[in-house]
Amino acid sequence: MKKHVFFSFILLCSSVHLLAQQSELSENKKQLLATIAKHEKEMIRISDSIWTYAETAFGEHQSAQLLADYAEKNGFSMQRNVAEMPTAFIASYGSGKPIIAVLGEYDALPGLSQKAVPGRDVRVENAPGHGCGHNLFGTGSLGAAIAIKELIAKGKIKGTVRFYGTPAEESGGGKSYMARAGLFNDVDVSFDWHPDADIKASMQSSQAEVDLMIHFKGKSSHAAADPWNGRSASDAAELAANGINFYREHIKPSARLHYIIDESGNVPNVVAEKASLWLWVRDSKRTGVVEMEKRVRDIIKGAALMAGVDYTIELQAGSYEVLVIEAGAKAMQKNLELIGPIVYSKEEIEFANSIQKNYGLEPLGINGKINPLEQQRADPDGGSTDVGDVSWIVPEVGLLVTTAPAKSPWHSWVVVACGGMSIGHKGMMFASKALSFTMLDMFENEKLREEVRAEFLKKKGNEVYTPMIPDTAPPLR
Ligand SMILES: [Zn+2]
Repeated sequence: MKKHVFFSFILLCSSVHLLAQQSELSENKKQLLATIAKHEKEMIRISDSIWTYAETAFGEHQSAQLLADYAEKNGFSMQRNVAEMPTAFIASYGSGKPIIAVLGEYDALPGLSQKAVPGRDVRVENAPGHGCGHNLFGTGSLGAAIAIKELIAKGKIKGTVRFYGTPAEESGGGKSYMARAGLFNDVDVSFDWHPDADIKASMQSSQAEVDLMIHFKGKSSHAAADPWNGRSASDAAELAANGINFYREHIKPSARLHYIIDESGNVPNVVAEKASLWLWVRDSKRTGVVEMEKRVRDIIKGAALMAGVDYTIELQAGSYEVLVIEAGAKAMQKNLELIGPIVYSKEEIEFANSIQKNYGLEPLGINGKINPLEQQRADPDGGSTDVGDVSWIVPEVGLLVTTAPAKSPWHSWVVVACGGMSIGHKGMMFASKALSFTMLDMFENEKLREEVRAEFLKKKGNEVYTPMIPDTAPPLR
């Protein structure tokens, strides 16, 4: 009961807030809102379709096509199949400088299929699901690009807007391949957002990371009759894992090492000829990852030597930490406050509370308020993203928007469920508005662009962007 009174109060405040703010909006910002409102129905349809397709890394054929076709239909000129990836594309509108970009993702996660209901209910057995909300991410970003495009078309602003369709964020790192191909080099400022349980201008970095697959190759023999003739690849995998676990004692608190035994022989009575260990090395800075990777490679070499087997280390992916641009985050924060909180219906709050209860969490409702701007912490939030790579080439401005209940476990069915209904849709529409407002600021305000660029150059220092991905074509499926 108390909660209902509280939420009606929020509702009242926010509608008053919104009305008061409307008069403060510039004509161009009003125009952005009008365009986004005009596209809302179609955006929800596109997002829900991508949610249903639920295509995983590099296999996002229908999702990429849907977004690209909608961009083309809205007058964007298209470059499809960029950086050797059929599901990567760039949609551009306008000409000349400044070039303001927005990134979109659309890959799903394996095994997370779920209906848009507040309890665990699998939609398609063993199928993927949008447990990171990328159906909303891609569509929300495209909505912002279309709104900006309308202003360019009407001659209200000058320059180029670009939407980057970036595949395989969850595995493989599509943006790293696009970065390697030089596709971001002429961009002035790039934007991204991510679904979350809070609304924030992004002030936290991510972890730099390398993803290694280690293959051991031994000699098979009868494990009881003549084990002395065999050399066990499984032994090497275990020894390597042991070494990594001992090394764990000596890594910094900011670092993470995690692995699985991906393969380890077939049956106990055959000395294992093949075994592999899949390992991720992460730290808050790329320099830390590079240092740890050297030690890890020595441990693997030692393990192979002890077991008397051969080995190869396959670099599968890798990304930089995100370079945070505070001047960009401050500009974003102003716009978040201008737009005001997301207001939820009684049904949505009930949906949130019941999903939290069903997951075993406290029913805390949904947090639609605008958080104050944070200070950047020395230790980033856990996890890595290929947005990090883009952020070392151009200044990157990030945003987090609520698309799931408070304290939701990410990469879970909870996020899938909310991303396929109005809680997710509201977050997506909010993201379109906030992104387009701040993108507009970058078009209109040359001083802000210069400030952002100066901070970027200062923070980047002498670092020359070096892709942390294999020297080969993207690992398409
Ligand atoms: Zn994600």
